[in-house]
Amino acid sequence: MNLPNVYARVAVIGAGTMGIGIAQVAAGAGHPVWLFDIDAAAARQALDALGQRLRQRVESGKADADATEALLGRIQPVESLDQLADSALVIEAVAEKLAIKQSLFRELEALCSPAALFASNTSSLSITAIGGALHHPQRLAGLHFFNPAPVMKLVEIVSGLDTSAETVAELQALTRQWGKQSVLCRSTPGFIVNR
Ligand code: NAD
Repeated sequence: MNLPNVYARVAVIGAGTMGIGIAQVAAGAGHPVWLFDIDAAAARQALDALGQRLRQRVESGKADADATEALLGRIQPVESLDQLADSALVIEAVAEKLAIKQSLFRELEALCSPAALFASNTSSLSITAIGGALHHPQRLAGLHFFNPAPVMKLVEIVSGLDTSAETVAELQALTRQWGKQSVLCRSTPGFIVNR
């Protein structure tokens, strides 16, 4: 699957501070986005709050109304992980707990196409350790956005010991298309910026 293609479906898991911002970035670049949170109400509330923020920008003349409605229309909240099966890329932004992230990716690996890429927005966990839960850890990398994701240009693309060069190259091309500046790093504590 050619990720930079804007028709490629992106799934964002976790609709907290980072997840909703990442969903906005992907939808802003034109991708259809699934948004899943274990708390379905949290996903709906995050999307409502995003709608309010963006429509305020339209009212104050800072954003285009049609483009804003198109962006919002591309983000679809879903209530079960099964609905993410046809995603080309899944970006995880759930609680910072290794066991939760490992169990999520294990479930996703059973659901998604072998061609789908997996990314974790973890700030501090080892990508090698998260990938340890997968049969095919080559498809997983860190994609570390900074808060607020729609504003901050820098994204760290983090390789675990098993991450493939193809996964990194696809994420590099994708983040470039999303208007981000990426830096590549190995999965060491703090990556680059937080170290
Ligand atoms: P948050 O607490 O705002 O949101 C986390 C969301 O994940 C919550 O809505 C929660 O309901 C949901 N969730 C928890 N377990 C889940 C599961 N198993 N399946 C689906 N949804 C689940 O957290 P955040 O600040 O957005 O951080 C998310 C990730 O991003 C963490 O790994 C964090 O380290 C990383 N991060 C955070 C920041 C930041 O400044 N907040 C910056 C960069 C990276």
